[in-house]
Amino acid sequence: MSASEAIIATGEATGILPTGASRTPITVIGTQAIRETFDDLCIQQAINSRNAPGVTQVVLNPDAHCGYGAPIGCVMVSPSHIYPGPVGVDIKCSMSLLQLDIPAEEIEDRRVRRALIDAICERTPTGAGRGARHVAKGRVVDERLGVEALVSGASLSVCQQMGIPPEWAERCEDSAHLAHDHTADSLAMRLEELRFRNAFPNFCQKIHQLGSYGGGNHFGECEVVELRDREPDTLQAANAFGLRDGHVAFLSHCGSRGIGHQLAMGQFRELQCKFAEWGIPLPGGDRELVYAPLGSPEADAYIDDMSLGANFATVNHLMINALVLEAFQEVLPGCTGSLVYFISHNIARKEIVDHRPAWVHRKGATRAFPAGHHALADTPFAETGHPILLPGNPQAGSSVMVATQGAEKSCYSVNHGAGRRLGRKRAIRELDQKAVDQSFDAADILTNCRQYPRDEAPATYKDFEEVLRSVEKADLAREVARLRAKFVIKD
Ligand code: 5GP
Ligand code: MN
Ligand code: MN
Repeated sequence: MSASEAIIATGEATGILPTGASRTPITVIGTQAIRETFDDLCIQQAINSRNAPGVTQVVLNPDAHCGYGAPIGCVMVSPSHIYPGPVGVDIKCSMSLLQLDIPAEEIEDRRVRRALIDAICERTPTGAGRGARHVAKGRVVDERLGVEALVSGASLSVCQQMGIPPEWAERCEDSAHLAHDHTADSLAMRLEELRFRNAFPNFCQKIHQLGSYGGGNHFGECEVVELRDREPDTLQAANAFGLRDGHVAFLSHCGSRGIGHQLAMGQFRELQCKFAEWGIPLPGGDRELVYAPLGSPEADAYIDDMSLGANFATVNHLMINALVLEAFQEVLPGCTGSLVYFISHNIARKEIVDHRPAWVHRKGATRAFPAGHHALADTPFAETGHPILLPGNPQAGSSVMVATQGAEKSCYSVNHGAGRRLGRKRAIRELDQKAVDQSFDAADILTNCRQYPRDEAPATYKDFEEVLRSVEKADLAREVARLRAKFVIKD
């Protein structure tokens, strides 16, 4: 039986995957065409995650593909346990969107776009290991301020010292993450302890990575906003989000850089050693599915480390947006910009699921709270739902969506993009460099790369239209705007 045949369709874009035991089955989101993209390993990882201790629900989203332990593109809920694997090694990898007051026509000229690419690349480095010192106009953050950012996230003080407009903090899904005991003091103590144990070699270099993208699939992309339609619901959402039809916006994708990676890897190593020492069986035999029961010292330490990484990612994104705005202002003097939203797709959050608190692990999945959700009560999005930022690929575009009431069935989550279809090695083997580069030229999308990385080419990702169709048919969210790429910055 193929992987997709294991799924029992319950609707055009919904299905269930029974796990054999007397557990609620896995919820699957995806049309038939999408369900066929799930391979055996992805399905097995979803089943292992569902059968892991303390897990009460798993959702497999249309962008799902195999990851470490749990699939990328899944949601895993537990009221009693925390799982580092389903958060991943890039803690709080996220999307942010900056709306500019520039009409699309102003960047039609390729020379203007080239100048923008140069101005942005002078400020926000790309590439593994690279930080503010590698570019001419980066903002180098000193050790003291770096520590403050790790401990308090996008606080007023951090924003002011880093030149980030403080009102942007209100446009974050979470502007600050606290320790397991809900204090920032414990985070400061944990950070001190980690540094005392030399958990962060080259700490200052890692701090200098604030304001940088990193490598691989991370990117910055200049967009033109195209509202889906002029219906009252769309206009109301676009208005609350601050989206401007026919105007330029900038989409960023990155996470917690070297610091987050070190924190996550340290946690994996420690928990894997303890599992071996205690002789506890690994869920599905998978070393990436180590876990800790809530309230244990191990869970406390993980939550603290995840929060430190998440605070870094938050300040990193806000700093990137401040630098991008500065670059736009250098090329197009007088222009202004405001943050639409900053939202993660690699994080565990404590939320209310089925009327009780639980940790919702979103591994390549995006939170999707609709209008009226209690957690949005004191936010600008109480009456509309918050913006959902979904990258697709530069040629198919990206999407801004808003959750509908049906999102309850997916634990208030949607996918985090199109999802990988071709492995990196296969993409490099099979795709023709010239054809990839020509496709960008034909679509009038500029890039900073001399040759576009083949393992990041649009063809390496799933059909974005079909992914979006799955989300809408399953009644999880609807599209508010499509973002059309005008240039891409990648490593
Ligand atoms: P991940 O967080 O799993 O690395 O990737 C998130 C998603 O970003 C991918 O599933 C893909 O749909 C999307 N993506 C990757 N590269 C680009 C890009 O250069 N531009 C846009 N718009 N989307 C991208
Ligand atoms: Mn990501
Ligand atoms: Mn990432």
